[in-house]
Amino acid sequence: MDRTIEQKKEDNGNDLREAVKALTEPICAKFIRDDGTVMVGRQNPLLEQLETAIRGSGIGAGRSQAIASERSVLDAQALFEFQQIRDQLRGWLVDAEREIDGDICGSLQRWYVAWVVKRPAAKFYLSELRRWKTVITSVVDPPRQMDHPSPCPECGATVWLEELSKEERQRPLAIFYRENESIETANAKCRACGKKWTVLELAQELANSLVS
Ligand SMILES: [Zn+2]
Repeated sequence: MDRTIEQKKEDNGNDLREAVKALTEPICAKFIRDDGTVMVGRQNPLLEQLETAIRGSGIGAGRSQAIASERSVLDAQALFEFQQIRDQLRGWLVDAEREIDGDICGSLQRWYVAWVVKRPAAKFYLSELRRWKTVITSVVDPPRQMDHPSPCPECGATVWLEELSKEERQRPLAIFYRENESIETANAKCRACGKKWTVLELAQELANSLVS
């Protein structure tokens, strides 16, 4: 076989192994507390988190604040996504002449071991596993939001109009972040003028507005 093709196949195998690990191994994550301090902790594997979300317990801090009716909707979504993933994985295991069991992470790991033996084209599986990760993250770790007390450095607003209630609210600057991602990936938006920044850009803008 052509060396570059063989090399490429190997790379896909490594990517696939990483994609399996991303779903089945515990995650070392940074948490941002409500008071803004950051702590490092360990989270269960993503597939396990999705399964836990079905039962509506042990979800991230953002979820615990959700009202009961909202929580039951989210649980239905977790159940739906979990069933989709489990059905798909069951099909893959059948193709590999293996069976799924109650341990979803172990089942995916056993599928990977079977994949390594025959090494069918990795591309489809890789894109599916990455899609699963995105789907699960959106269920178990929706972006959290907090207000920033400063006026908007773009438009100077100190209040904004909430569309649904038509009520005027304080603190137009909102910051959106994920529990287990670095704060550098957070985004910010002014709810008065609509201007968007990364958190780092906003920090720079606010520092500039203090100077000028
Ligand atoms: Zn603004």
